Amino acid sequence: MDVDRPNVKWPKSHFKHWTRHILQDYGALELADARASSLTNPIHPIYAHWNWSIFDSDDYYSIPPGRGAIPYANPLSGDDYQLLRPSLRLASNFLTEPSLLPYWHALLFADRVPLASKGVTNVRQGYVGGFASFTRTFDINTNSFALSTTELAKTQHALKALADSTYLVFDPKENPGDWGFTSRYFTKRVAPGFPGTACDININILLLRALQSHHLTISERLRVQYFLALAVVHEVAHAAHMARTAMLGSPRPSGTYRNEQWVHEPFFERDILAECGHAWEQNVLNGSQVPFEGNPECRFGLQFEKWPGSQGVSPDIPTRRKPKGWSTIYALPMWFVQAMFTDKHWEDVRRYGAMQVRAPKGLGWRLFLEPGSAVDEDDEGISWDNSSRGRPVDENGVVWPVEEAGAPADPMDID
Ligand SMILES: [Zn+2]
Repeated sequence: MDVDRPNVKWPKSHFKHWTRHILQDYGALELADARASSLTNPIHPIYAHWNWSIFDSDDYYSIPPGRGAIPYANPLSGDDYQLLRPSLRLASNFLTEPSLLPYWHALLFADRVPLASKGVTNVRQGYVGGFASFTRTFDINTNSFALSTTELAKTQHALKALADSTYLVFDPKENPGDWGFTSRYFTKRVAPGFPGTACDININILLLRALQSHHLTISERLRVQYFLALAVVHEVAHAAHMARTAMLGSPRPSGTYRNEQWVHEPFFERDILAECGHAWEQNVLNGSQVPFEGNPECRFGLQFEKWPGSQGVSPDIPTRRKPKGWSTIYALPMWFVQAMFTDKHWEDVRRYGAMQVRAPKGLGWRLFLEPGSAVDEDDEGISWDNSSRGRPVDENGVVWPVEEAGAPADPMDID
């Protein structure tokens, strides 16, 4: 299929490393037989229409209060909600499929073990050192931490209850790569049974704008729908933490706190950063997944890598040790994205387990980065030198899938 679309300006910066033709040959761009989502599962109550709002001005202070689920925004129209349905059905599968719920059980209920602060950096001044690690580990590869019937019911019940105190809003973001964030929402009551706070989840309106566009191919639309689904599940992980943990300080009648103190999110297993949304992506999806080049219409495909990889560390997130200097960014094949939007695939997840939603590592793009650096070819922290570790890499820094490279002895997964 021709991928030279005259109205699409392709990024030049990475062309020599990962061209559109390489991506198309791998199947990461246009699927010849792409089909729109056929998911029919119910939408989880967290994502119900009445929980959604929209705020389309970038000035929070210049408009009168809205009438949406959160006060500064307006209700999302029925037409817009209709556009979200495929994403919300997919997101709902991630929140209801039993083999994918151990992560949520751990986040909501597992004991949190205080860590010695030694070796942990980026702990915010004045914040409570509530960072912790989970005591029970699970191996999603073997699903050895399958939940008991009681644990499963408890987790499903808690996730449903979060629908009463989790609000979602589309709003403008300054940075197109800033896909979402979640804030504590002090003036709304948290759902019964939770000691923490309600929250609102802000999602970049550019993703809604992409879905409103009439110019997307079926494959592009599937990618936007897929990425939006991941974004809203990622943020629910933060919502779950906020519902589970109370703010410390003196509460005011307005719901805010005097001398407020945050409780940090926990480290999950051996993760090096304490960030529950990325921990979900890493542990369940096999890596952090974003649109290539940060394009909200996902025109250049989707990429993923072992988190934090080239995303580096944030000064706001407690960190245990520096990330490795090497990372491989993988292209996400469209057959995988397409499958996610079929009931048949989710029957396979039910039958064969959590491995079915882990992104396959095939075509990769290997890079060296200084800890904390971003992906930028001009950044001196990145080199295209491709030595070591036995990965077959061509002169352009492209790591080829096994079958094309002659099946190296080493596994492909070197993150
Ligand atoms: Zn996050």
